[in-house]
Parts: sequence; C-alpha cells; structure tokens
Amino acid sequence: MSGILDFLKLLVHRRFSNKSKIEAYQFAELKSLIEFATSNSEFYSKTLHGVELNEIGDIKKLPIIHKNMLMSNFDQINTVGLTLDEVMAVAVEKELNKDYLGYYKDEFVIGLSSGTSGNKGLYITPKSLTERLPFVFLARSGIPLRYLPFKILFMLRVFSQGFNDINSPLISLKYLSTMTPVDEIIRQINQGKINVLMAPPSLCRMLLPVAHRIVKPLKMIVTYAEVLEKEEKTRLSDVFQCRVIEIYQGSEGQFASACSLGNLHINEDLIYVELLDENYKEVTSSHIAASHMIATNLVNRAQPLIRYEMNDLIVLDDPCPCGSRFRTIEKILGRHDDILYFKKKDGSIQHIFPDLFSRWIITSSENIREYKVIQQSDHSLMILLDPILSREQSELIESVRSRLNIELSSYDIEYSIDIRCETIALPANRSKFKRFEVAKDIIRS
Ligand SMILES: [Zn+2]
Repeated sequence: MSGILDFLKLLVHRRFSNKSKIEAYQFAELKSLIEFATSNSEFYSKTLHGVELNEIGDIKKLPIIHKNMLMSNFDQINTVGLTLDEVMAVAVEKELNKDYLGYYKDEFVIGLSSGTSGNKGLYITPKSLTERLPFVFLARSGIPLRYLPFKILFMLRVFSQGFNDINSPLISLKYLSTMTPVDEIIRQINQGKINVLMAPPSLCRMLLPVAHRIVKPLKMIVTYAEVLEKEEKTRLSDVFQCRVIEIYQGSEGQFASACSLGNLHINEDLIYVELLDENYKEVTSSHIAASHMIATNLVNRAQPLIRYEMNDLIVLDDPCPCGSRFRTIEKILGRHDDILYFKKKDGSIQHIFPDLFSRWIITSSENIREYKVIQQSDHSLMILLDPILSREQSELIESVRSRLNIELSSYDIEYSIDIRCETIALPANRSKFKRFEVAKDIIRS
C-alpha cells in the first residue's frame, strides 16, 4: 500500500511546474537530511558542524567527499551502526557464494562497486528504499496503467536490489542472472507471461536473433547499467515491437528515469546532482561534459551521501517537451567497458560482463589499487594489477589467479591468463579510462 502512495507522490513531483518549486523542495529535503546526519552520524556532526544554509545553492559550502573518505570513515558515516569489517565480510562472502539475493540483517542491501579510483566501495541501502525502486521506475516511465498487472523479468547482473521480493497482484518480479543461456531466458519469458523486461542493453542485443520466439509480445523493455545508444534503442524497439526506456541507477542512488517520451530525466526529488567544470563552477548548459559529478542522495539516511563525487559523468540535454522540469540527460559517460567473450570447451561462446569480472578481481585481495583487463583473443587474457603494497606482489598475483581459475573453470572455459603487477596511470579525463579492453575482432554485436 505504501508503494501505491509513493507511486502517486512520485507522479506529482514530476509535475513541479518550475525550477524554483523544485529547488524549494530539494532545499527542504536537504535541510532535513543534514539535520539527521549531524545528529546521527559522527562523521557529519564534525564536518558539517556550524554550516549555515539558506538556499539550495549553499550546498557548495559543504565539503565534497570521495570514495576513499567514504571507506575510511565508513563506521562514522553510517547511521545504522554497521562496521566496515562486518559489511566487507558480508559483501565478499556473498560474492564467493554467488548469493546476490536477500537483505543483510533483513534490513539492508549491501552494494559493492569498483570505481575509477580502484578498490572497493561499499554502500548501504535500507530495505524500505529498495522496495520503492520498482515504483519509482513505474511512476516515471510513462507506462500506461492499462498494462497492469506488470509481470517483470529483471535480469540481474551481480547483486540484488531486492526486486525479487515483489509478488503482488499488480506487480510481480522475477529474477534471472544475466549469465543465463538465451534459450532459458526465452523459456522464462514465455512461461511467466512477462510483459516488462529489465536488462542491460548488451543482453537485449543477445536476444535480438530469438525475439520471434517470444509468444506474448513485450510491452516495454527497461535497460540499465550500460549506455543505451540511440540507434540501439530504435533497433530494439523495432525488433521487439515495444517501447524501450532507460533507467540510471547505482548503489549511490536512483539517478534518473525515462519519461513518456523516452527521455532520461534526473530524479530531482530523490537525488541532488551538481555538475561542475574543472574549476568547480556549475555547468548548466546542455551538450557540455562536466568534469565532476557530485551527488547528494536526499532519501537514503542509513548511509548519508552528502556531496559525494561520482565516477560517472553526465551530459545534460535540452528541456524535454513532455513538460517535466526535471533536468534531462543526453549521455552518461564512463560506462563503456567491453564485454568479455570466451570459447567454451564445447565450442559455444560464453559472455562475461565486466562488472562481474571486476568483482572477482576486487574481492580476491585487499591489495589492489587499480587494475586493467585486456582480452587479446577468445582464450587469452592479460591482467594488470597496480598493488597498494608493492612487496606482496607474488602473493597478490596468486590470489587473483586462483580466484579467476575457480570462476572461469565453473563455466567450462578454456583460457590462459597472464597477470602482471605494474603502475597504472589514469588519464586526466577519467571518463575516458577503460578498464576492460577487448580486441576488436572478438567483440560481437
Ligand atoms: Zn520528458
């Protein structure tokens, strides 16, 4: 029931008639967040002490925090009494057991991410917020309510957002791993009479040749986690004969949803996004890439993220004719890693998404500052590791190698891996950094 109320509230917010109404709402939310954070988080009670805010623009008076600060002050930042050690242990164990479902202590979703600054980032999202995510995307998607009930197949890449818990008369959600063979995905779509497919664009692409086997046509495809190119959107929409929209979300928050015209709008009522140039001046023009994207999650109080610097960068678009005043996104930069392709022993091809492969690497050692994966052929890989402690290199190489051996052999893949330790320099423009590079002749479309 709270989901339905939430749904209505989210619809109303979308119709804020002008910028000052949006800013007034954001300012009220920010003030209440800061009040909560300064009285419940040891870290913010120190860093935000005595800061006076009179309007949303004053947020610039607050310090920017980076991932290393988030991690080194993990225990003092979160307001729910979790320690870095226990959360890290839970996250790593989940990876090892491939147990991506369920809530920690029945209350939290633990999100693990690698970022451009290298090592792991850990994020806590309360169950209550996670459970409203499907409503956020439904309220913002412009999908007509006559399509109810929504029978959603959610292709999950690595960890659960808790979507699988939803099984109500109006919305049901089924979870499948993105590693599932194509035939099985089609079978599940037909068996579950799925009408909404949520999956990364690269997975939808794999379904293109077998789209004709879907008995009851899909009403909508929702993509996430990778950039959806315009041409690709048109192609998917033509072949599947349905609407294709995008959502943009991460462990740090639900950033944007597509409107009825299919344009991606920032969820300005859930997250405050600052786009800044190299001199930390605000970027308001469309079609210009900012140098910094700073996010303040207005709704997550378990782990308040106040002026958190993101790895992604976005480019704004012109105002949308749909009438919403929420800013529109033309492009998301920084998620262009290639997918790995391997030949299996039976001759078939196994794809592996870079974020899954990343997790195998980053959870095999605490001693990785940065890494890069280069695939030269369908059976050979080179992995570069930039260690934090240079004296333990051989130990590091061995732990990464043995972890990858376990994971890759479980897919019956034939491969050879060359692992080396060396310093990896990031380019000045972070959004250009590619952590996964696959030789052109093995990239399949
Ligand atoms: Zn719009």
